[in-house]
Amino acid sequence: MIASSFYDCIVVGAGPAGCTTAALVAERGFRTLLVERDKMPRFHVGESLMPETYWTFKRLGILEELDRYGFAKKNGVQFVSHDDKETKPFIFQEMDERDCSVTWHVDRNKFDQLLYETAEKRGAHCHDETRVTDIQLKDKPPHNVTLALPGGKTQTVSAQVVVDATGQQSFLANRLGVKDINPDLKKAAIWTYYKGAKRNGGQKPEVTCILNTNTKDAWFWYIPMSNDRVSVGLVGDNDYLLKGRGKPEDTFAEEMTKCPGVGRRVAGAERVDRFHVAKEFSYTTRQHSGDGWIMVGDAYGFIDPVYSSGVFLALKSGEMAADAIADALRRNDVSQENLDYWTYEYDNAIESIRRLVHAFYAKEFSFGNFMKEHPEHKANLTNLLIGRVFEGNPDQIFEDMEPWIAKAKEMAKN
Ligand SMILES: Cc1cc2nc3c(=O)[nH]c(=O)nc-3n(C[C@H](O)[C@H](O)[C@H](O)COP(=O)(O)OP(=O)(O)OC[C@H]3O[C@@H](n4cnc5c(N)ncnc54)[C@H](O)[C@@H]3O)c2cc1C
Repeated sequence: MIASSFYDCIVVGAGPAGCTTAALVAERGFRTLLVERDKMPRFHVGESLMPETYWTFKRLGILEELDRYGFAKKNGVQFVSHDDKETKPFIFQEMDERDCSVTWHVDRNKFDQLLYETAEKRGAHCHDETRVTDIQLKDKPPHNVTLALPGGKTQTVSAQVVVDATGQQSFLANRLGVKDINPDLKKAAIWTYYKGAKRNGGQKPEVTCILNTNTKDAWFWYIPMSNDRVSVGLVGDNDYLLKGRGKPEDTFAEEMTKCPGVGRRVAGAERVDRFHVAKEFSYTTRQHSGDGWIMVGDAYGFIDPVYSSGVFLALKSGEMAADAIADALRRNDVSQENLDYWTYEYDNAIESIRRLVHAFYAKEFSFGNFMKEHPEHKANLTNLLIGRVFEGNPDQIFEDMEPWIAKAKEMAKN
């Protein structure tokens, strides 16, 4: 049973977004409940972090602990082109030598568990194996939340603020009918894990690799993790990967023959997990908040896995929402405008990542050629890969890049 039936804040879902929100609201002394349907620790995709996660980790006080876990370091990003050119990696510390320019390739079960324990240490009541089956939003808060407890009982609890951090389940967006699948990014992913694969093709320092297939119809991620494990994933249009192509593992193998860079890296390695599949993961939500409720992380929206921005944005939105919730609770006014004033800045910032994602998928466009012509944008591009979208002018690069993309598309038509 949940000890109390009334909370200041109930957070639904214990991924990076939910744990961050719960930790930062609870540490200010507000009664906070964090519920997670799965048993923690639980498996999750999304191992490659962006360096800008550093600041939320610092605020949560877990930087040293993360270092102690021995996760593989992520020093940069390398692109391998469709014609198998291993381009020079973007090494973050070449741009900025500070510690905050290096991050990790994490095992998500351990990483999310650390965040869950951090929320508990900061004072949140944390309950796993506790699924939210209903959120009854009233005209005015408090709102009621129905929980399916371990053992089969149900319990209703209420709160001044309900936070939807249910990830791709997007509990409230689905209920309210405000979730829009992005029609231009109807992608799917097939991924698995290897042991004994090459660590970044033998190069040091370790980086996340993004490798295009020779037709540019799909791409692979290659993420070297701790304990000699590597996460290898294939991403392409949903119909291209999953319609009329047999089993996902066959499609994965077929696409690998079109991507020698991945073939080289996993040659002689042992696959140590089953194949996982995800689809239709790119969407936005038309409404993110109301009086006494707000969405964070993937429940708010998800762009695309290509630049590994998901966990960073989950942490960042969790942090921004927590500050707004704590202020609103302190003022005893949890109206929508007090809870979601941060979303304007957030939406602006993530637009830069969205624009870079669309550039990546413009088949006719060559990033390599563009960067050769415009080396002055290297710092801007590296900053985007680091996740520095909440400061400076992250959009400068697009003034030159987007006309290039349009021109490339035009030329391809003729
Ligand atoms: C194919 C793919 C590859 C990706 N690769 C990367 C990557 O390399 N790097 C990166 O940063 N991001 C990556 N991402 C994105 C990343 O996984 C997510 O953005 C991130 O996990 C979002 O965190 P979150 O806290 O919002 O949601 P989640 O981490 O999904 O957490 C939500 C939690 O809510 C729980 N929940 C759901 N419904 C209920 C309910 N009714 N009651 C109680 N609990 C509930 C779930 O069990 C889950 O634990 C990838 C995504 C995809 C699809």
